[in-house]
Amino acid sequence: MNVWTDVKELFFPRLCLVCGKKMLPEEDVACFPCMSALPRTGLLHTQGNEMEKLFWGRFPIERASSLFFYSREGKVARILAGMKYRGRKDVCFKMGEMLAGELLPAGFFEGVDCLIPVPLHPKRLRKRGYNQSEWLAKGIVSQADIPIRTDVLYRVRNNETQTRKSAFERRANAEHLFGLAPCSDELKGCHVMLVDDVMTTGATIEACGEALSAVDGIRISVLTLAWTK
Ligand SMILES: [Zn+2]
Repeated sequence: MNVWTDVKELFFPRLCLVCGKKMLPEEDVACFPCMSALPRTGLLHTQGNEMEKLFWGRFPIERASSLFFYSREGKVARILAGMKYRGRKDVCFKMGEMLAGELLPAGFFEGVDCLIPVPLHPKRLRKRGYNQSEWLAKGIVSQADIPIRTDVLYRVRNNETQTRKSAFERRANAEHLFGLAPCSDELKGCHVMLVDDVMTTGATIEACGEALSAVDGIRISVLTLAWTK
């Protein structure tokens, strides 16, 4: 650490996103105790896991995984809030690196042709300034040599704020939510991986899968940072 970082730390201490305490220089996003206390799914690369099963029969699902369990008041929710509502692109990137760090050795990315971050509606994107899922994907590809495609799938309607809706309402609301760009032809016979920050009912991911299914011979995998079982 140099003098400048010392001074910066004094005026702008880096705080743990979970407990709010000042972090050590070697800590990032959250302090070690908070990071190690995050509830893990342990799914890694297990074929036919419970998350994957949710998509069976809905679209050509290849594999699915998520690192943490999400609950509205839980520790993971604070990290997600930082990623989404506090402009912390750096947190998205770091969590992407972490996802890759754990899933790359497990072979989860083997044979994957590209990552497709779940798109935001252009209005939402303008408001937030970035797509948290795209930054998560950027963190992943910093460790794994896979291209990111943000040009094939687009959001037709803006329905992101639907936390108060029931699972049934969300599903109905998610129908025909995404559209395919003409260049999606290039994905014929490809294995694509949808990337999102969090999956709750799965309705949004399902809507992406439904749209992508129109591409001949496509195989789809799903990776999210967090999941509500
Ligand atoms: Zn902490």
